[in-house]
Amino acid sequence: MKIIPIAFESLGVRSQATFIETSDLKILVDPAVSLAPRRYGLPPHKMEVEKLLELARSVNEYAREADVLVITHYHYDHHDPGFVIPKDIYRGKKVFIKDPNSFINPSQGKIRAPKFLNSIKGLPSSIQSADGKGFVLGHTKIKFSYPVPHGADERMGYVVQVAVSDGDETVMITSDIEGAPREMHMEFTQEVKPSTLIIDGPLSYMLGYALTEDQFDASMDNLEKIVKQGLTTMIIDHHLVRDQRYREIISSLKLRVKEVNANVMTAAEYLKEEENPLESRRKELFSESNEPAKLPRGVAELLKGGG
Ligand SMILES: [Zn+2]
Ligand SMILES: [Zn+2]
Repeated sequence: MKIIPIAFESLGVRSQATFIETSDLKILVDPAVSLAPRRYGLPPHKMEVEKLLELARSVNEYAREADVLVITHYHYDHHDPGFVIPKDIYRGKKVFIKDPNSFINPSQGKIRAPKFLNSIKGLPSSIQSADGKGFVLGHTKIKFSYPVPHGADERMGYVVQVAVSDGDETVMITSDIEGAPREMHMEFTQEVKPSTLIIDGPLSYMLGYALTEDQFDASMDNLEKIVKQGLTTMIIDHHLVRDQRYREIISSLKLRVKEVNANVMTAAEYLKEEENPLESRRKELFSESNEPAKLPRGVAELLKGGG
C-alpha cells in the first residue's frame, strides 16, 4: 500500500489531503487546501499563498488519478466547492461523504454541505453518505466511523474517520478530532487497529482559549495509548503543527512511547522532506519581508469563508 500525504501544515498549508493506493484502488481523502485568514493578527504571507496554489495543483493532479474521493466533514481545509481546486475533479468518481443531514452543526449542515453538494451536482458517478458504513471495492476495504465530535465538544460539528485496508495493512485517517481528547475518539482506532495512523493532534496553539489544560493533557494521554496499541507509524500533523512548539510536543510524546518501536512523525518527515510550517512562522515571514499577498479571486473567497 502506498500512502502519500499531499498537503499538510508541515508542508505549508492547512490540510490533511492524503492519497492512498492499494493494488486495485486509488483513494484521495479530503481534496482541499486552506490558510488561516488571520494569524498573529496578520493576513497570509505571499509565501503561504504561493504554497497554497502549488499544493492545490498537486491535490488536483492526484484527485484526477483517484477512483474514490472522500470528504470527512465540511470545513474548507477538507472540501472545496471550487475555490482553488476545480470541481471537475469529482467527474466520474465514486464519492463518499460525511452525512450532511445528521450529526452536523448548523454552519456545515445548513450552509457548507448544501453549497458543496450543489457545486458538484451531476459530476460524480456515485455519491454516498458514509457514516458508520463499510465498502468492499475489489480487494480493498474502506470503513468509516460513526460521526465523532470535531474536538472536545460538538460546537465545531462532527467528522467521520476513515480506514483503508488491503488485507496486509490498514491506514486510518482520524480527520479533525483535535488529538483525541475523548474516549469516543479512540473507539474506531481500537476497532480497525491500523498500522499507520494519520491524526491531527491537539489545538495546542489555542491553549487557554479554545483548549483547556485538562483537554490537552487528556489528548496527550490518549495519543500515548493509541501509539502503544500497536501502531507502526503515527503521522501527527494538521492542528498540532500550527503551534510553534510542535517539535517539543512531538518529542514529549516520543519520550512517552519510547519502549515501543513506533515512528511518530509529521507528514513532511514521513516524506523525508524539509518541514515548512509557514502558518506558525507567519510573524517571522512578515519580519523578514513585509509582503502581504495579493490574493487571486478563488483564494480571497476561500479565506472569506473562514479557512
Ligand atoms: Zn475541521
Ligand atoms: Zn481541518
